Amino acid sequence: MEKHIVVIPGDGIGKEITTAAVKVLKKIDEIYHIGLTFEYQYAGGTAYDKFGTPLPENTIEAAKKASAVLFGAVGGTQWDSVEPALRPEKAVLGLRKALGLYVNLRPVKVQKELCEYSPLKPEIVTGSDILIVRELIGGIYFGDKCESEIHNGVERAWDLENYSVPEVERITRFAMEAARKRKNKVTSVDKSNVLATSRLWRRTVTKIAAQNPDILVDNLYVDNCAMQLAIRPTQFDVIVTGNLFGDILSDEAAVLGGSIGMMPSASIGELTSLYEPIHGSAPDIAGKGIANPLATILSSAMLLRYSLEEESAACAVEKAVDAALEEGWRTPDLYKDGFKKADTNTMTEVVLQYIK
Ligand code: ATP
Ligand code: MG
Repeated sequence: MEKHIVVIPGDGIGKEITTAAVKVLKKIDEIYHIGLTFEYQYAGGTAYDKFGTPLPENTIEAAKKASAVLFGAVGGTQWDSVEPALRPEKAVLGLRKALGLYVNLRPVKVQKELCEYSPLKPEIVTGSDILIVRELIGGIYFGDKCESEIHNGVERAWDLENYSVPEVERITRFAMEAARKRKNKVTSVDKSNVLATSRLWRRTVTKIAAQNPDILVDNLYVDNCAMQLAIRPTQFDVIVTGNLFGDILSDEAAVLGGSIGMMPSASIGELTSLYEPIHGSAPDIAGKGIANPLATILSSAMLLRYSLEEESAACAVEKAVDAALEEGWRTPDLYKDGFKKADTNTMTEVVLQYIK
């Protein structure tokens, strides 16, 4: 069966890094015979310049029909004066909504080779391998809000957090499945000592946990989790949490790895799923051919794993990236004396060589 990938390079370094990831996917296809086909679509500032909108209807339609979407990055200073509703970043939110991307996955794996870039001591951080499962289309970000209300001369604003049992069940089941392919441990993060939504969250997680006795489930308050990530990150396997806490914790976890150029992500939906690096369009280095392509290449490994269920192909990509690093190859963002300097192209070629 044909597996159709819609590639959305976006702006800045988006084109360079998605080109690298597509090369990797093509090589994988030669070996694993998945039957991949590719189609390119516009989004972000480049789409705004060409079509007057950061997210053209064509892009949405193509994405909806795709087996998976590979996304580069959007944004850049040249679009700073564009009216807020048409800014490049709106493309990401628009796709999330159009595709119903209900979970965001951020793996954080601290490789031995790169632990020196972590703000934590190597002996604390080495071996960390965490998957953050964040609910993406509910919670306080999507509840009723009031920007400004004046009562007795005092201005206030409010946001309403709201979660339903089915929403929590769905994300919890996803976390359980993910843990089953890893180390069978799920830590659910909430603030149930204070928030009603968190109490519903914990109750629901506990119910789903009882249906999955092979998975070790524990609960942490978000403040404690933030601390534990910095003190003993190796204790975690899968972390499942709501939209707001997940946003904050996934950025905290991302710095453990020390390098933004290495961090992949996936946003899983019912119709299709979207894979992108966590970094932005890096306008400062765009067009120079020096961007680190590994975050996007690792995102393509997630695409193979979660959308195409090609686990061995996904592992082959991850192993090739490990091998390139072990051999001492570094793009300028990670380069130090004694290593082999690689630009985007060289790093991609090295990874391709190691794919088996
Ligand atoms: P956004 O608002 O889109 O997140 P940003 O400016 O906050 O954008 P990035 O675009 O991720 O963040 O860039 C932050 C810094 O990290 C920049 O100096 C950029 O050059 C660097 N950077 C980001 N991604 C890469 C990469 N793949 N390779 C090398 N450097 C990168
Ligand atoms: Mg940013």
